[in-house]
Amino acid sequence: MTEPGLVEDYHAATAAERRLPASLVVWDETLRDGEQTPGVRFTPEEKLRIAEMLAEIGVGVVNAGIPVVSPDEARAVHLLATAGLKTKILAAARTVPTDVEAVIASGATHIAIFVAASNVHLKYKLRMQPDDVVDASVRSVRRAKEAGLHVAFVTEDTVRAPFDFVERLYRAVQQEGADRLVVADTVGVMTPITFRWYLTEFIRRVRPADLSVHCHDDFGLATANTLTAIECGARAPHVCVNGLGERAGNAALEEVVLCLEGLYGYRTGIRTEGLYALSRLVEELSGVPVPPNKAWVGYNAFSHEAGIHTHGILAHTLTYEPIQPEVVGRQRQMILGKHTGKAALVEKLKERGLHASDPLLLELLRRVKVEPGSRTKDDLARFLREYRSIFDRPGLSDEEFWTIVDAVGIRAVNA
Ligand code: MN
Repeated sequence: MTEPGLVEDYHAATAAERRLPASLVVWDETLRDGEQTPGVRFTPEEKLRIAEMLAEIGVGVVNAGIPVVSPDEARAVHLLATAGLKTKILAAARTVPTDVEAVIASGATHIAIFVAASNVHLKYKLRMQPDDVVDASVRSVRRAKEAGLHVAFVTEDTVRAPFDFVERLYRAVQQEGADRLVVADTVGVMTPITFRWYLTEFIRRVRPADLSVHCHDDFGLATANTLTAIECGARAPHVCVNGLGERAGNAALEEVVLCLEGLYGYRTGIRTEGLYALSRLVEELSGVPVPPNKAWVGYNAFSHEAGIHTHGILAHTLTYEPIQPEVVGRQRQMILGKHTGKAALVEKLKERGLHASDPLLLELLRRVKVEPGSRTKDDLARFLREYRSIFDRPGLSDEEFWTIVDAVGIRAVNA
């Protein structure tokens, strides 16, 4: 912004209500939760390419995966842990000895130990009593600390668990040396105002030395809730590039970072001009297309077509762009079509040093507005049919699955 006073900034009015941490550690989950997006799998080499770029833009912690999942996953974690990247490599473990040992063996310096917290998870999924959950958690944390790891403790479904149990569990693991406590909104049911209440209560009861959150986007609130948590002092928010993750995904890395940088002027330590290239790489390697209207990294985020908007942008970009495209490593696009106005055409003609008289400009405008362009509705319909056939049902088709069943030799008992 060159001239002061062109737009009012009311975020200054709420500054006293924010307790932003002194510094931020962006904790990326793209290679773990992001890989749990239906149909997504990364090879160890692909994980390394993404981790290199995450390290390059300044991400503090990269969750490389859960080594106990498969030999390939263990190889991926080891590959990242020994690549000499300028970021901390973390691997995850259930509160099970084999899981913790697999992380220790992987070479990762950071571990996230996780267990479920809510009654529905304890009763129906884990079939564990609360006392046993506390015991297993304490034992796992103790072992990881003995091995010299930085330990984060996570509970799934924290925000739907009885608070007394949450308090007891987190206090116990912190007592045992857990370095960072993570509160998870596993099914995305928090709202900013409720999450603020919850975290204020959590901080009062547990007194975490270092707080982190894990937010899902089931109700479309993952970024808002993550921002709320950071405003409550959370220092190491979990994020995924392009908002990848289970179901509707996690808080998007680019959204959380740009909320802080672009709205509050808070320095996150992320080199934002690398965000678009990172988004493209993850789109390619995950095979999950970024929606055109996705904040900051979607095709349309810096595109202008309507005459009124284009005219405004050409006069001053602050009219319709809250941040400049260069901030995320992009360029603005003026789209020519039905809604184009004269100002965009005048600007476009300059590319070839042309200047049109008013009558010619009006004739050009008339033709541009009715020209359908090369992308017809038939093309789009074909593309959508293909897109839907791929994304309706990621993973194996029924036919592929039953072929494997047959090959394995599973037969009907009474046949
Ligand atoms: Mn998750």
